[in-house]
Amino acid sequence: MANSVSTSGIASGRLSSEELAANFEDLHSPLSEHEAMVAADRCYFCHDAPCLTACPTSIDIPLFIRQISTGTPEASAMTIFEQNILGGMCARVCPTETLCEEACVREAAEGKPVEIGRLQRFATDTLMAKDKHPFKRATPTGKSIAVVGAGPAGLACAHRLAMHGHEVTIFESRAKGGGLNEFGIAAYKSVDNFAQRELDWLLSVGGITMAYGRKIGDGLSLPDLQASFDAVFLGMGLSGVNTLRCDGEDSDNVIDAVSFISEVRQAEDLQKVDVGRRVVVIGGGMTAVDAAVQSKLLGAQDVSLVYRREKDSMSASVYEQQLATSQGVRIIYNAQPEKIVSNGTGLNVEFAYTETKDGKLKPTGEVFHLAADQVFKAIGQNLAGAPDDLVLSGGKIQVEENGRTSLANVWAGGDCATGGDDLTVTAVAEGRDAAINIHAALQS
Ligand SMILES: Cc1cc2nc3c(=O)[nH]c(=O)nc-3n(C[C@H](O)[C@H](O)[C@H](O)COP(=O)(O)OP(=O)(O)OC[C@H]3O[C@@H](n4cnc5c(N)ncnc54)[C@H](O)[C@@H]3O)c2cc1C
Ligand code: SF4
Repeated sequence: MANSVSTSGIASGRLSSEELAANFEDLHSPLSEHEAMVAADRCYFCHDAPCLTACPTSIDIPLFIRQISTGTPEASAMTIFEQNILGGMCARVCPTETLCEEACVREAAEGKPVEIGRLQRFATDTLMAKDKHPFKRATPTGKSIAVVGAGPAGLACAHRLAMHGHEVTIFESRAKGGGLNEFGIAAYKSVDNFAQRELDWLLSVGGITMAYGRKIGDGLSLPDLQASFDAVFLGMGLSGVNTLRCDGEDSDNVIDAVSFISEVRQAEDLQKVDVGRRVVVIGGGMTAVDAAVQSKLLGAQDVSLVYRREKDSMSASVYEQQLATSQGVRIIYNAQPEKIVSNGTGLNVEFAYTETKDGKLKPTGEVFHLAADQVFKAIGQNLAGAPDDLVLSGGKIQVEENGRTSLANVWAGGDCATGGDDLTVTAVAEGRDAAINIHAALQS
């Protein structure tokens, strides 16, 4: 039932609106009050809770679960928000299966952890449904801070600084805030415009001015900000996309996966998003899984995800890999692209099988070919256009533990900085911790 098919095998409207709505519904449905009570009841409220240690934002998980079980979900939400102001989004997108829920003693004992993520969502949704922002700002300090980037790191930093009574301006290159919460996270993890609702809720603390369409490196420089503000926080993420470095990479319909995912997230009508009948995704992380799964959900028939190393090395968790295969995505391990040939009616990708020998990845000499209408590149992002004079390490802005960079009064955190593991929750933790350090520095 294609609405619009091109000769390249790429089409929009492969599925009806009803089918698309069903495919893109909430991955984990919210818990009802009764379900939350039952789920909370499974917690042992461990004294030395391993789940807490496993949480990058150190949320007091046993306490917030106890507050749910005693019928005080709003107090529970405050326990969460005091550590992680984006606790609502993290409840939806955290790979809990490799963080708190993996560490839960009930996972070790029974293979079934307490549903910490869903409980966190229950508590935060309950409080966010109230009209008033739950935090009050301290007395104004007269200090002003520039934050670059309105992603999780920048927003967490800005909120904490605003709470301390500082005035914050967020310079965001796009016309909309949220960073990858708005443009990257898979559509089925953040339904009902949650990223924008959460952004509005966070900003309602006051003291934060949004400057959209303002980009460092394009009419605005870091020295400008250093001269005009008492401190600067860089939370610009990774906006460059790594290249495959194989012949034919520039062919039509070889697209970076983040752009495709962003198009799906921003689509007002999913029936208008183009997708190939045959899709090949190259990569092994969440981006690769999200591109593959969303292609399937849009109606692609044949989706292969090809990863160059073995299954255990894949950065997408086992849960994410299972999610992909449950949607009909075929995962091929140990294969790397050699060349892409455009033959007029589609693409043909040649892959070489690989093996790890003496710790090094090597081609085995065998090759295979996959025909595709679209090829998505999902082999990582990089820091495009880092401001001059900053010391970089491994392609990221080098920071100390508290987010300080090599420049005086400049901090950084989130994906653009060294130290994290490129997750929403670590970006939040780093933005928050940099704000605490900036506040301390401005007091002294
Ligand atoms: C496709 C995809 C799916 C993902 N899925 C998950 C998931 O399910 N769970 C999870 O935990 N993590 C996931 N991640 C990772 C997570 O989204 C990131 O780790 C997190 O968003 C990093 O936050 P950040 O604030 O550092 O950067 P970003 O979210 O990238 O935000 C950076 C902001 O800075 C702006 N900016 C960039 N350059 C400039 C400039 N020069 N001047 C001004 N503004 C600028 C950008 O427009 C953007 O708004 C995913 C990532 C991708 C790409
Ligand atoms: S480890 Fe599991 S059971 Fe123990 S406090 Fe954390 S969630 Fe509760």
